[in-house]
Amino acid sequence: MKVAAIVGGVGGARFLLGVKHLLGMPAVGEAPSEHEITAVVNTADDMWLHGLRVCPDLDSCMYTLGGGIDTERGWGRAEESWTVREELAAYGAEGSWFNLGDRDIATHLVRTRMMRAGYELSDITAALCDRWKPGVRLLPMSDDRVETHVVIDEPGTGERKAVHFQEWWVRYRAEPKAESIVPVGADEATPAPGVVEAITDADIVLIAPSNPVVSVGTVLAVPGVREALRKTEAPVVGLSPIVRGKAVRGMAEACLAAIGVPSTAEAVGRHYGSRSCSPEGILDAWLVHTGDAADVPNVAVRAVPLLMSDVDATAAMARAALDMGGVDLA
Ligand code: GDP
Ligand code: CA
Repeated sequence: MKVAAIVGGVGGARFLLGVKHLLGMPAVGEAPSEHEITAVVNTADDMWLHGLRVCPDLDSCMYTLGGGIDTERGWGRAEESWTVREELAAYGAEGSWFNLGDRDIATHLVRTRMMRAGYELSDITAALCDRWKPGVRLLPMSDDRVETHVVIDEPGTGERKAVHFQEWWVRYRAEPKAESIVPVGADEATPAPGVVEAITDADIVLIAPSNPVVSVGTVLAVPGVREALRKTEAPVVGLSPIVRGKAVRGMAEACLAAIGVPSTAEAVGRHYGSRSCSPEGILDAWLVHTGDAADVPNVAVRAVPLLMSDVDATAAMARAALDMGGVDLA
């Protein structure tokens, strides 16, 4: 079976672990399998920092699926040390609010060197994955530079300005209200090689319970991706990242507020919309958490447990999504 998934970073990576488990793939390492999972990963969080190209969502997926993640923190490398960060802070280097660990920096060094040598991000990602063997084909949504910017009143100065999403999210903890959130460069971007085919050739397409604005939303903003989701013959099934009116982890509510979508499973389902009856819609089915209700016109809705507390619970979510898509595992 061919599964395609649209994912962000930490939430997307955890979800993919569950999909792998459901399909009988080992948690770490490649193993022969009749199944194939392709993840289309958000790259609009990417940024240049200290001269290095950092791709947080790709790396969260790669480290999580490759067994290199710090499972306690949920991001970055296991057994990390922070010497370079301390030295950068001692210089008062710009951008030292973003935590780059020493091991993690090696990834960014390899990536940046390959970029400077002219390789595309999709080739570089494949090269990095040669080491990690995530068992899932990780495709950046685009090889073109797309960066989410957030318009805020800067704390301290009160000056209205656009900052990189990471600065708003990590440095300011999403506290200053987002006046707008824009995936800069998305309009001119094209999907990376394999992205459209992964969606159109899939047996099922899953929209991970990732951030609907700055993870899934930015992938959808790349021209061609939404069209592929609308035309694929595969069922498209989404899972709500909003449980009981709140993001399960993180601050997705602040992103939804910026685009005028209430933080409910129903509102996010309606925001994605029905493939069959809304002109921009992408969903055939929508899973919400047990106890949540959602009325999404022309979309089949079912309530099941949606907490990714461990890999078995996450695999059960993936199984429910396959069921909703009418896809038989056996
Ligand atoms: P990021 O790029 O690292 O922020 O990660 P994603 O965008 O992939 O995922 C973040 C989203 O995952 C948040 O909006 C959370 O609401 C959602 N999320 C995290 N854990 C869970 C969970 O256990 N269940 C569900 N349904 N959503 C979750
Ligand atoms: Ca992200």
